[in-house]
Amino acid sequence: MAYQVLIITSDATDAKSLENVLSQSEDGAFDIEWVTCLSDGLERLRAGDIDAILVDLFLSDSQGIATFDQLFAVVPQTPILALHATDNHMLAKETMQRGAQGHLSKDYFSNSLVPHSLRNIIQRKAVEESLFIERTRAEITLNSISDAVISTDMAGNIDYLNTAAENMTGWLKEEARGYPIREVMRIINSETYNPVSNPVELVLQQDKPMTLAADSILIRRDGNEVAIEDSAAPIHDSNGRIRGAVIVFHDVTPARAIVAKMAYLAQHDSLTNLPNRALLNDRITQAIELAKRRGTYLALLFLDLDNFKHINDSLGHSTGDKLLQSIAQDLSTCVRSSDTVSRLGGDEFVILLTQDKHAQDAALTADKILTVLAKPHTIAEHVLYITTSIGISVYPADGQDPETLIKNADIAMYHAKERGRNNYQFFKNDMNLRAFERLAIETHLRYALMRQEFVLYYQPKVNLDSGKITGAEALLRWKHPEWGLVLPDRFVQIAEDCGLIVPIGRWVLREACAQAKRWEAAGLKLGSIAVNISALEFRFKDFVAGVQLILNETGLDPCHLQLEITESVLMRDVESSNLILQQLKNMGIQLAVDDFGTGYSSLSYLHQFSIDILKIDQSFVRDISCDNGIIASAVIAMGASLKQLVIAEGVEKQDQLAFLKTQHCEEGQGYFFSRPIIAEQFAQLLTTGQCGKQENQGSNDGYRSATIE
Ligand code: C2E
Ligand code: MG
Ligand code: MG
Repeated sequence: MAYQVLIITSDATDAKSLENVLSQSEDGAFDIEWVTCLSDGLERLRAGDIDAILVDLFLSDSQGIATFDQLFAVVPQTPILALHATDNHMLAKETMQRGAQGHLSKDYFSNSLVPHSLRNIIQRKAVEESLFIERTRAEITLNSISDAVISTDMAGNIDYLNTAAENMTGWLKEEARGYPIREVMRIINSETYNPVSNPVELVLQQDKPMTLAADSILIRRDGNEVAIEDSAAPIHDSNGRIRGAVIVFHDVTPARAIVAKMAYLAQHDSLTNLPNRALLNDRITQAIELAKRRGTYLALLFLDLDNFKHINDSLGHSTGDKLLQSIAQDLSTCVRSSDTVSRLGGDEFVILLTQDKHAQDAALTADKILTVLAKPHTIAEHVLYITTSIGISVYPADGQDPETLIKNADIAMYHAKERGRNNYQFFKNDMNLRAFERLAIETHLRYALMRQEFVLYYQPKVNLDSGKITGAEALLRWKHPEWGLVLPDRFVQIAEDCGLIVPIGRWVLREACAQAKRWEAAGLKLGSIAVNISALEFRFKDFVAGVQLILNETGLDPCHLQLEITESVLMRDVESSNLILQQLKNMGIQLAVDDFGTGYSSLSYLHQFSIDILKIDQSFVRDISCDNGIIASAVIAMGASLKQLVIAEGVEKQDQLAFLKTQHCEEGQGYFFSRPIIAEQFAQLLTTGQCGKQENQGSNDGYRSATIE
């Protein structure tokens, strides 16, 4: 394709010579157009497609350098050559300083080299132009991306930074240019904080692309740290020789923060921020490895809060959650920082104790936990009391892997529950058997009501002065077709744990009331019938209504019904206990505190409660011969000062009875008078008015010839 050349000159001879010389070009590369004044030239240029301009600066409508300036203003990308007389090349040179591509003296107008030079000029200008566009495009692109880009020469000195690199390093392009990259881009390892060599230096040495280690941190000029990820590559010239390097990097702080956050969430319990089961498993695995090498022990404490469900049910989940948070904090204070307190979910916590010299050290921690948790927890307007049962398993004796150790600690925890809660138990091998038995009991219990396997036994309560029977306590028995007679200690707690105690308790209450009514109908006078109420029943929302319903159904006068509730159940949530007791009291029912002295009663609360009777726990009666009855008499005095009727449980021996009498204990219950017996036998007792023992042993002791009031 031919180049379009515009000649602007008023000198026709010049125009002719130039036209001649250019048309002599061998390849016929030029199409010539000629105009005589600047305005015509400008008009032609505006129409476009001119590849080069040859201009005489002295025209009819423009003189000197202004001629060039006007042309250049319209077509700065088009090569312009000034034509000049032999003696006036100074002006032509000035045009070159202002952007002209060359000048041509009139002496050379017919020189055969002119076409060749003109072609060179046109082509060079075209290359320059495309280079310029290329560079501009690159510059704009680099400044609009969020990745930082820095390039260096072979010595590792910076020759370019884009805007993102300026922002990230804190160095401006002008400041950084010529500086070694290791000064502008200081990199350290995020964990060791040791300097890391800049990948650009490696690229320059090895002439191949490099990436930075994943945990690298850039120290900004102001000293702030930025986590970065990068890659660096060599820059080659057209011969494939390395001429420098370019590094591209970006800020990965937010991404790393998200990764760290996700890792944390995956390993922690969101309510308490404690490690969850996954992290606990990891920690146990690591601790086992370490203990194996060092020959040390590990202990695992499995905690399950006692009766936590009642708190959740009666006060709501948000109170329950806050209590769990408070407990999580307390637990953390009981262990060393090297130990792990974790929450498995619900009210279950597992503590991993490391660095123990003796397996028994775990007992010290367990003791500490029991003491710390026994303190009242103030949650919003509630003062809550909570205890926990703890099972302990020890590595290596009780398991070689996390699963077995947790499972065995869990089994030991159930054992602690069976032992009356609020205590700890070490795992023993026969516990597996007990866990199995527990499961069997739970399974069979589910059918026991339907299959009518429960019966009630009755044990008399006796006035110690007169020896008269004042009432009966109904005691539950399970007649299992294969196992025989099962006592409540073996199944009541299990029934409570799985909620079955509620329907079973209803049956007991109905049966006891109905039995009292039957005796009444038979003309046998019984002061009161006492029924044991478990924690879960007492807190059950329909409990009071259920009692009312049964009284209505059976027609028993409420004044003949006594409900026995243990001290710890009442103390667990004083306010709601008081409310329930008040409702029962208003119905005319008598209320007894069972196993008095074994819990942690506050006397002021006991006084507030509408309690009629205190039943001294049998352990104090049993101890009479050992401790001279100090505790028993103290408890009796306590009951007396609270103006409540005191009944001693578990009276087995004559000397116990004698002592209780000296202490003015009003009533007693125990094998000394009668074991729990079936209804028919009890009826007989009521008819004869005598307790069982009297027949065998014969005595004139008035206490044993119990009579009907
Ligand atoms: P408790 O209410 O303190 O009942 C007294 C327990 O002491 C009874 O055990 C009774 O047989 C036993 N006992 C009575 N006199 C003596 C004595 O002289 N010496 C000794 N060593 N023991 C004596 P039992 O019947 O095995 O009941 C144990 C516990 O099971 C009861 O303790 C009570 O807490 C619970 N329980 C019994 N029946 C029911 C029931 O129907 N519902 C609920 N929720 N719990 C029940
Ligand atoms: Mg009782
Ligand atoms: Mg008792």
